[in-house]
Amino acid sequence: MPTDTVPTATSKELVIRVLLAEDDATISEPLARALRREGYDVVVAADGRSALSEGVSQPGPDLVILDLGLPLMDGLDVCRGLRDAGVFVPVLMLTARTDEIDTVVGLDAGADDYVTKPFRLGELMARVRALLRRGPETPSRTPGSLRMDVGARRVFLHDKELRLTTKEFELLRVLMREEGRVVSRETLMREVWDSWYGSTKTLDMHVSVLRRKIGDDAQSPRYIATVRGVGFRFQNDLQD
Ligand code: CA
Repeated sequence: MPTDTVPTATSKELVIRVLLAEDDATISEPLARALRREGYDVVVAADGRSALSEGVSQPGPDLVILDLGLPLMDGLDVCRGLRDAGVFVPVLMLTARTDEIDTVVGLDAGADDYVTKPFRLGELMARVRALLRRGPETPSRTPGSLRMDVGARRVFLHDKELRLTTKEFELLRVLMREEGRVVSRETLMREVWDSWYGSTKTLDMHVSVLRRKIGDDAQSPRYIATVRGVGFRFQNDLQD
């Protein structure tokens, strides 16, 4: 994405959604007010589970401000859950104590930045702006022609939606998640069919139908390549 098209809070046509997950109202209320004053559309979640469900809903947030210590599910698990669901928007962690920083930074939960409490509003807003300028991490901005919205369970080819069965969707989801890497037949059987063993004819059949639906050709694949004796490798078509 060229930098001059990166959305800012001042763009008239774009509403930037911020998910604020914080259980302490003395923090979330003034923070939500400050964010709204800057033009952001703010959704507040007071526990980890609702934060995750808000985060994967559509239209999803453009940025998540995530308290580490949340009821029901802690911030790190929320962050991992978002990444697992294919949500790669920037996540700014709020930590209460400095000794928690090691946890946030050390465990690779996928947070992009952190701020320790107590923080100055001005500093936090500056971090928010910086993260939004940076935008989502690579997975969701892959410029290929096949695009998956995991949260909404939708797949688009050249912006046209495809109709996939549950298994086809799951198969494509695992392959796209591991983009550029070979995914073994065993892994696909286990993740898509919950099975370690059994006939992989089912797998071949599904790959074949999936290829047809995404307009792919097994002989000269644009998306799903067969790696003989091992499995399959997904590569998004970059020729557009
Ligand atoms: Ca908290």
